[in-house]
Formats: sequence, structure tokens, C-alpha cells
Amino acid sequence: MTRAPTLKPHHLMRHLLPEIDVDAFVDIRRQIHAHPELGFEVGTTSELVASLLEEWGYEVHRGIGKSGVVGQLTRGSGKRRLGIRADMDALPIVEATGLAYASQIQGRMHACGHDGHTAILLAAAKALADGPDFDGTLNLIFQPDEENLCGARAMIEDGLFERFPCDAVYALHNIPGIQVGTFHVLTGSLSLSSDVADVTIRGVGGHGAMPHRARDPISASAAIITALQTVVARNVAPDDYAVVSVGFIQGGATHNVIPECVKFGLNVRASREDTRALVEQRIREIVALTAQAHGVEALIDYRQLTPPVVNTEAETQLAQRVCVELVGAGNVVTQASRGLSGSEDFAWMLGRVPGCYLMLGNGQGDAGGCMVHNPGYDFNDAALPLGAALWVRLARTFLVV
Ligand SMILES: [Zn+2]
Ligand SMILES: [Zn+2]
Repeated sequence: MTRAPTLKPHHLMRHLLPEIDVDAFVDIRRQIHAHPELGFEVGTTSELVASLLEEWGYEVHRGIGKSGVVGQLTRGSGKRRLGIRADMDALPIVEATGLAYASQIQGRMHACGHDGHTAILLAAAKALADGPDFDGTLNLIFQPDEENLCGARAMIEDGLFERFPCDAVYALHNIPGIQVGTFHVLTGSLSLSSDVADVTIRGVGGHGAMPHRARDPISASAAIITALQTVVARNVAPDDYAVVSVGFIQGGATHNVIPECVKFGLNVRASREDTRALVEQRIREIVALTAQAHGVEALIDYRQLTPPVVNTEAETQLAQRVCVELVGAGNVVTQASRGLSGSEDFAWMLGRVPGCYLMLGNGQGDAGGCMVHNPGYDFNDAALPLGAALWVRLARTFLVV
């Protein structure tokens, strides 16, 4: 098992955030790491966040989307409003790092570095509260349940952006395998949406020898599934991405009976919201009209799970500029052949407000290279001042005095 190294707080990076005691935030990160909480049940972590923000002068709102917290700080008379989001939840994994501050709760672990993301935003919060050099409103958003992809949506449905309007919203994630001090800040689509659909084709059952007395849902389903292969091939532009896969099909029990009904399930992915909507529309049309052509009934239960993460251009360019100022152009990747393979529920926030999701190097090899969701993973504390300095500089750039 890979054992994450115990890093000394990185003295080289302290100059990026001279106004705060970085070591204190490394301690907070490790305290959160030792007490991981799952899903929406992040009461201890969110209370720690809320009480610290209050202590530093933020107007704090608890219980948004069950257990989310928003800390708001307004300076000057500026009208600009910036949102920065961190996630607080852990994973149901048995930690195997052997670290002194390893999880004290068996079967739960901060294996995705959300402890680090929370500590980064807290460090930035403290620096921004101490340094009054911005003009406008800062909304610091601490969300629960990122891992199950429900927390951001819960906060939004609880009125997040009506109560705390934002002109732009930002978030970051640590990425093992990328060296500390490197940022990936990419424009456009970073991950695909993920949706599912359950289709039920209902015909009239009968004897296999007398198909004229039945309405065959199997031949109708075969025609529908074949037609579904044209959704991407004939509708989505060649330089865009979408996937329509049939993951299961169930129907019938024996050779000489035409069954009453057939069920099949789809997984649908798309790179952009307009492509996602187009693909859903074509699937619905093909299912309904092909079923009609075969004289059977079609029911479709279409469920949107996660939107794609799409970084907007102007907000991404601003983040690129801030990262270049911080670590130099050589350490900021702005073009990559591949985005994220997983899903990320910050996509819900980007669906409402323009913004950017950045990736922050967690290190390579023994120093932070162990992949997230692995029992040997640990957030690299050396990345903490980098992430915090990024948020501080971004806030001071976005909310210009
Ligand atoms: Zn994760
Ligand atoms: Zn994560």
C-alpha cells in the first residue's frame, strides 16, 4: 500500500501567502482529515467552517442544502459578487496511510482531498478578511455531498444563487500525478454529462405461431435500438462528443411466446448542454415514433444525473492570468487533449453562473502522486498555500478596488 509521506508544511510556498500562518491551516486540514464525514452528514466539519468564518467577521449562513455553509463578506461599495466553492465530504473507504493524523473513524476517509479544498478556502477566507483590499461581495460556498453528486444541486435548490447572487463562481480540485505548483486551467468542456433512461415497450402478448394476433415488443425494441445508433452519428457534429449506449435489455421467457413487454436501459453522455438537450430530444422522438410505427406503446423515464463541467471563456481567462502571475506561465497548462473522465457536481453551479473549475497539482510519486479514492491517498499540504494564494489573488483581481 502506498504510504503518503508526512510533509512538513512547505516553507518555500509560504511567501505566496505572507499574511497568514500557513501552519495553522495545515493543522486545520489534518484535523478535518482525522474526522471524515460522509454525504450530507458533515455536521462537525461544517460547524468548524462556520465558526471560523464567524470569528473572522463573515456573515455566516448555515444549513443551505441541508448542511452547506455560505460565508459572505462585503467590502466597499462595489457591485461585483464572486463565489468560490469548496467541498467538505469524505468517502466510505478504510484509510491505509498510517499517517499520524489518519482517519479516527473506521471506514471513512478523506480520500479525495476535500479536507484540503476546505482548508484552502478557509486560509483564503482568513487572508481576505484580514486584508481589506477588495471592493464588492465575496460568497464562500462550502458544500456537502460532492461524492454522490447531490450537494451542489441541493444548495442551488435551496436558493443558493437567489440568496447569494454571484457574477462568477470558481472551484478547484487537487490532481495527483501533476506536480505541486502546476495549475491546469482549461476553457470549455472538461467532462461529459451523465444521464440515464429506462424505456418500456408495451405490446400485446400472444402465441409465437400467431404474430398477427399480437403486437410484438421485441421486434419493435430491436428497431428502436438500431435507430438509436443514429442519434450521435447523424445529429452530433463530428468535432463534438456524445455517447448513447444500451446497457441492458429484458423481455420474454421462452421460444413460443411473444411477450407483453420489453424493457431496456440507456446511458447518455454529452460534452455540452446544447448537445445534451439535442441528444435527449432525438432519443425521445426515435423511441416514440418508432414504437408508433410498430403499433406498440413506449414509455420513457429519462433522468438527468450530472451536467457536463463547462468552463466559460472570460472567467477561465481571468483564472489563467491569475495563475500565471502566481506561478509563471510555464506552470499553467491551458491546453490539454483530455479533460476529466469522472463527473463533478460543481457542474450544477456552472450551469447557473459563469465560472471555472481549476485543477491543482497534488504532486508526483511518493509526494502526492497516489490517486484519489485510493486508501493510500493524502492531500499534499504543500499545495495548500498555492490554492489559498490563488483564491486570494483571484478575489482581489475580480473585486477590484
Ligand atoms: Zn472524489
Ligand atoms: Zn473530489
